[in-house]
Amino acid sequence: MTQIPIDVDAESFEASLAEMATFVDDTQDGWTRQVFSDPYRGSREFVAAKMRQAGLDVTLDAGGNVVGRLEGRGSKAGVTLKPIMTGSHTDTVRGGGRFDGIVGVLGAIEAVAAMRRSGVTLNRDLYVVDFLGEEPNEFGISCVGSRSLAGVLIPEHLNMIGASGDTLGDTLAKVGINPDSALRNAWAPNSLHAYIELHIEQGPLLEKSGHDIGVVTAIAGIDRLMARFVGRADHAGATPMDGRLDALSAAAAAVLTIEREGCGAPVHGVATTGRIESYPGSFNVVPSEARLWAELRSTDQSWLHGVKGRLAEQIGLEANRRGVSHMIEWLTDQDAVPTEPAIRDRIALCAERLGYTWTPVPSGAGHDAAHMVHLGPMGMIFIPSVGGRSHCPEEFTPIEDIARGIHVLAKTLSELDVTTSLAS
Ligand SMILES: [Zn+2]
Repeated sequence: MTQIPIDVDAESFEASLAEMATFVDDTQDGWTRQVFSDPYRGSREFVAAKMRQAGLDVTLDAGGNVVGRLEGRGSKAGVTLKPIMTGSHTDTVRGGGRFDGIVGVLGAIEAVAAMRRSGVTLNRDLYVVDFLGEEPNEFGISCVGSRSLAGVLIPEHLNMIGASGDTLGDTLAKVGINPDSALRNAWAPNSLHAYIELHIEQGPLLEKSGHDIGVVTAIAGIDRLMARFVGRADHAGATPMDGRLDALSAAAAAVLTIEREGCGAPVHGVATTGRIESYPGSFNVVPSEARLWAELRSTDQSWLHGVKGRLAEQIGLEANRRGVSHMIEWLTDQDAVPTEPAIRDRIALCAERLGYTWTPVPSGAGHDAAHMVHLGPMGMIFIPSVGGRSHCPEEFTPIEDIARGIHVLAKTLSELDVTTSLAS
């Protein structure tokens, strides 16, 4: 096992981060670089150039991912070893920040540069990937590139229609990605020795804990629901309170039920109603219909299952009490994705060896890593987000904190390279 010190160049990384932040849509707030936009295209050329500078062979794969490959000793000698992959994304939400995803791509490139500068050579091939479009796009699909690579991009995704009236498939074709090829871009299951992603936490847990490094335990599962309540429209002045079938009041009770379940979650669990609509929407009419859209997230799959049942029961009881009929439609059912224990242990050990403190943390946000788990054992390294802020211009992580994350990433990659089997 190599014990050669790996020398991370924080200044060079900081310069790359600053240059990356120039590829933005000036008509939007913050640092906006949405997938398929001109600034996005420019930024990916910059990423490819940085990869080449670090010694990686760069290709654009059929799923629109920028893929950099560092050939290992094994391949040079004609020996087949499963490769290691690391990476993240460089697209942002509208009005986003400079760190979400970007740290995992530019950080991985710096990790490669640092290993090469320090004389660390790997046995296995190492792939650094800038995944296409991780953030949810106008078609309602997130993680387009990692889904393609993992074999979970399906024709239904390509048929989704965006605000412009084009489908995702049309849009891919317009930027030079053959949609059929994107569906056939998958690597074989278990073809990776390991996948590791460095990312900012995007929440407050790590900063509050005072630790340098977060070892991610699991990526939260998501259940989304739409609930529809149907009552009766009546005159808001002439109908007594005990004679109403008020659909909006039944929906309001459901909002509080959803919040209460989130507050009672045992392990990082959250429940949010993000949108509510009422019809006919007048001062003087008792609402005849209401709809709400809510989501539940947790790394604890059994809590997610349990809360779905409890919500259906409580929302139903309250609606019935009010004489309002209701219907709940579950829109998304995405299981929590645990990280690989052997990789968690290795990240923690590497952090300790480098003199950094660490703590286990859940990931409330989704990541490309949640799809890459189809290709092999997966782990994530978190670094703190100041004030827990993310997906906003205030998103910030000091360079020293990022450099620690890159250091742990490089060390973990070099140690996983000589570990035999990681799958549990
Ligand atoms: Zn991200």
